[in-house]
Amino acid sequence: MTRTMPEPPPLDPSRDALFLDFDGTLVPLAERPEAVHVPDTLIERLHRLADRLDGRLAIVSGRYIADLDGFGLGALPVAGSHGGEWRLADGEHCALPRPKSLDAAREAFVAFSAAREGVIFEDKPLGAALHFRLAPQHADASIALAREHAAGLHLQPGHEMIEVRVPGVHKGTAIARLMDVPPFAGHRPVFLGDDVTDEDGFAAVTSLEGHGVLIGPVRESRAAYRLSDPAAVKAWLAAMLEPAG
Ligand SMILES: [Mg+2]
Repeated sequence: MTRTMPEPPPLDPSRDALFLDFDGTLVPLAERPEAVHVPDTLIERLHRLADRLDGRLAIVSGRYIADLDGFGLGALPVAGSHGGEWRLADGEHCALPRPKSLDAAREAFVAFSAAREGVIFEDKPLGAALHFRLAPQHADASIALAREHAAGLHLQPGHEMIEVRVPGVHKGTAIARLMDVPPFAGHRPVFLGDDVTDEDGFAAVTSLEGHGVLIGPVRESRAAYRLSDPAAVKAWLAAMLEPAG
């Protein structure tokens, strides 16, 4: 089915709350998760937009928060680990407990990636991932290994990667949790994301009378709108900061 997915309307600064995925949305995907670069201009723009929205701007990522902190995003509210942990602008950090079954998965993933050139293991407080972007010939075996270790965990496929993580949370629960508390509560959520994991977020914002914005090519999606890539996101964010009229 072909769908029309128009560009999103501008934000309403008195009404909207903005939730932003990180990789593939704010910044282009990199071959290695740590190779992502966040330009100072983007960080400055996010903080100005957060001010414009009275603090109603949050990052919602599959990365863990300590990892995101390495990119110098500053004190923006953030939900990390697909909603397994969160931190508001006041700096208080909350996280779900780490399941024991993750340790066995970690051990297996470390051994697997060490034996295969180009397969990258990513350790997270509430998850373990194998990235096979650089070694697509190992994709099937990576996915099979993750399946083997998924008991009691959530198996999450992504862009050229597979992850097992703490069950019961996703981008939708992450956004819903933030929408329950100030300064987000009572506003209309808008969520921008690129990956299949962002579909839960699109569903959540739609049920809260907001809308989703897919970043990337047209596909079947719960998002109503679309921007083509992180450069288009940057331009859309910048347009909101231009003086009105
Ligand atoms: Mg993403």
